[in-house]
Amino acid sequence: MEVRALSEREPISKVMEEWNRRRQREWINVVPAVISLGVIAWISSTLRFSMGGFPSILIAAVAMVVISLSFVYAWFNWRCPACNKLPGHAFDPKFCTECGVRLR
Ligand SMILES: [Zn+2]
Repeated sequence: MEVRALSEREPISKVMEEWNRRRQREWINVVPAVISLGVIAWISSTLRFSMGGFPSILIAAVAMVVISLSFVYAWFNWRCPACNKLPGHAFDPKFCTECGVRLR
């Protein structure tokens, strides 16, 4: 019985380990998206047609692509390691709302 309890506990710690890795990757992923949002806000507040020799519309387009890629990455990364579904809509969930596994 004791051996069985240990082997049942093992996957849960693996899930939490993997979730921790995904959270760290997600924080890194958010940085360029936030910078891009700031760039778009800055461009739209100045209303200048060019920034440092580049057309503002081009800079805004690149920023939009960065934000889109960030969303695509999050779509694959921000998933429960146990059931591979989105673990609810909480900002930083403790449990997966789909399968109930503890994430952290
Ligand atoms: Zn799950």
